[in-house]
Amino acid sequence: MTGRLAGKVALVTGAGSGIGRATAIMMAAEGAKVVVSNRSEHKAIATAQAILEAGGDAIAMPADVTDHDQVKALIADAVAHYGRIDIAFNNAGIEGSPALTGGYDPAAWDQVMAVNLTGVFLCMKYELEQMQKQGSGSIVNCSSILGTVGFRSASAYVAAKHGVIGLTKTAALEYARQGIRVNAVCPGFIDTPMIDRADSKMDTDLKAQISAMEPVGRMGTSEEIAEAVVYLASDSAAFTTGISMLVDGGYVAQ
Ligand code: NAD
Repeated sequence: MTGRLAGKVALVTGAGSGIGRATAIMMAAEGAKVVVSNRSEHKAIATAQAILEAGGDAIAMPADVTDHDQVKALIADAVAHYGRIDIAFNNAGIEGSPALTGGYDPAAWDQVMAVNLTGVFLCMKYELEQMQKQGSGSIVNCSSILGTVGFRSASAYVAAKHGVIGLTKTAALEYARQGIRVNAVCPGFIDTPMIDRADSKMDTDLKAQISAMEPVGRMGTSEEIAEAVVYLASDSAAFTTGISMLVDGGYVAQ
């Protein structure tokens, strides 16, 4: 298969839905063999099936990124199946429940941190170990516009996404001389099931509100984020490491 990722093996977490699913499908279309991971098995299988039906190469490997043993096994199983991991998109994330900081439930805080920050760390820990053995690799972590600015009633999410950027910069410095690049993507508001869930918890029309907040006047698509991730993951970005790429319709420029 030809394409920008021809011959590469890619791992995508949270690949059963939204941005992760679109990225896994685009990576496969660009020639990568894709390990499709997600907490819920049926969603991972559905994405892998879509890739296979389009003539690509993929395998579904369910894993919960908050579970240390499952993450360790995921990386080991991916390497056992495809022999290596060239690209990792650490994308799995949850939105948490809206609450002011003073009223944020500590258990809900821990859950958002466990998925959105510790989950990224656990995946990186074992991906980096494998990429060090190979002497090459490219990691893209999913942060957010909310990794760069605050947002009312989302302190856990905002703190976790800021943490992802710090983690990305630090690992980029640590592994730059070993042929491993580490970058983050910072999506603006993207029309995915995550936004549908948040919308359903509100009395007002959240989608209309956030479309109005975006300077371009609309939400982004998962494919628009996948384009950026494919670029960062590919050899076209060989001199790019430690960055947090905004793909946000101009939101943070305001
Ligand atoms: P989504 O809910 O459509 O997809 C998230 C996927 O992650 C789901 O398939 C879910 O099953 C999986 N997942 C959740 N917890 C998991 C866990 N513990 N282990 C493994 N998989 C798990 O959401 P999305 O909008 O596609 O979000 C993808 C990423 O993009 C997230 O990190 C999110 O924070 C980030 N993001 C989204 C937006 C947006 O507006 N949609 C904006 C900025 C950043």
